[in-house]
Amino acid sequence: MASPQQTDIWIQRDLAHCWHPFTPQALWGKEAEILMIESGKGVWLTDTLGRRYLDGNSSIWVNIHGHCHPHIVEAIRRQAGIICHSSYLGFAHGLASDLATRLCSYFPKDTLTRVFFSDDGSTAIESALKMAFQSRVQTPGEEHRRHFVAFSNCYHGDTMGAASLGGVGTFFDRFKGFGIEVTHVNSLDELRALSPEFIRSVTAVIIEPVIQGVNRMTPWPKGLLRDLRRFCDEQGIYLICDEVMTGFGRTGKLFACMNEGVIPDFLCCAKGLTSGYTPLAACLTTEAVFDKFIGACSENKTFYYGHSFTAHPIGCAAAMASLDVFENERVLENLPPKMQLLAELGAELERNNPWVSAVRSCGMILGIDVARADGTPFAQDDRAGEKACIAMRRHGLLTRPCTHDTIVLMPPLCITEEEIRFALRAIDAGIRDALPEL
Ligand SMILES: *Cc1c(COP(=O)(O)O)cnc(C)c1O
Repeated sequence: MASPQQTDIWIQRDLAHCWHPFTPQALWGKEAEILMIESGKGVWLTDTLGRRYLDGNSSIWVNIHGHCHPHIVEAIRRQAGIICHSSYLGFAHGLASDLATRLCSYFPKDTLTRVFFSDDGSTAIESALKMAFQSRVQTPGEEHRRHFVAFSNCYHGDTMGAASLGGVGTFFDRFKGFGIEVTHVNSLDELRALSPEFIRSVTAVIIEPVIQGVNRMTPWPKGLLRDLRRFCDEQGIYLICDEVMTGFGRTGKLFACMNEGVIPDFLCCAKGLTSGYTPLAACLTTEAVFDKFIGACSENKTFYYGHSFTAHPIGCAAAMASLDVFENERVLENLPPKMQLLAELGAELERNNPWVSAVRSCGMILGIDVARADGTPFAQDDRAGEKACIAMRRHGLLTRPCTHDTIVLMPPLCITEEEIRFALRAIDAGIRDALPEL
């Protein structure tokens, strides 16, 4: 544990030189104390002053099996002693071969058969977009398919291509005009209602399957994904599933699309792929897409895209170990009672806490909306969600709102039922501490 003096030095250095993501820096360090996280074990985080907190949002939606799981730590340690990084451009390595094979093995034979590795969710999305687009350009009769369709309020990452898909106005409106051409729809019916001529110009539809994350943790109607798959098949449109948040058990299945028996043309995963231990991402696709990039060099069909750390060996080692843990600890088999308890306690919170206006649950995820006790919404500048989450720290829970008034509970899958009860008590208490004052 660091001393209070050392902690203070780090905080001063942070204030002088650091810039945090998605953070209004004018309020940073003023609205709440800056916590310096020092270590983690299971679902628990400890700060430099020795205070313990339950990791209520899986360290920004990434952690799956808890912190410092011995099997994953050992795999990383072993790999670091062998080699940390080698180039995947021009060379291969065994861990990437094994990981790609294992990822494909979760899908029926001859469906998703190819894996393109990258670094994070945004670059997995960029790969899918570029593959989809380029495959059209170099396929006779498909050159006119240049448009992408995304859903309103979607979130697919922050690099320029991914951000131009983004449907959350606060984040993305100012970048309109940059990036790719995208049309947003609210529903499948709205997509169907677009002109046949437009529909023939669409290269791909992208969706966060089963639940939209950043959009206040909003589940889709049951069956929507299956109907969308059917529509895309009928119209010759690719389906891209953004499983960056939903992948690796969050919705109860290894991938969310498995809830509806859907196989997309592109499946992007990142966050939980390594159980959140290191950056690594993968874009899975079909042999049909892969084949469109085969040709003589002079045909220029190569996918000229990649990143320095593609298929990073330490990431691949962590991912293989994380998938071992799924099997060794029967992680998915043990989820149903936890999902049930989360849903029950979420509903109880909605009934009993006057500042909770709605709770949505999906698998191991809760979205908790707060409003004034008379039901009127808080203003953005009230920072109600943020203030409630800050108050929860005193009750031993760390999480963040995903809009100004939706609080997220998305713990690591290894959380126990007792810890789930602890988390819900902390959320209830934090809301009751902070919101009556607004
Ligand atoms: C987090 C997220 C991304 C972006 O992933 P990064 O690793 O932050 O680039 C994309 N899509 C969804 C659904 C996400 O939740």
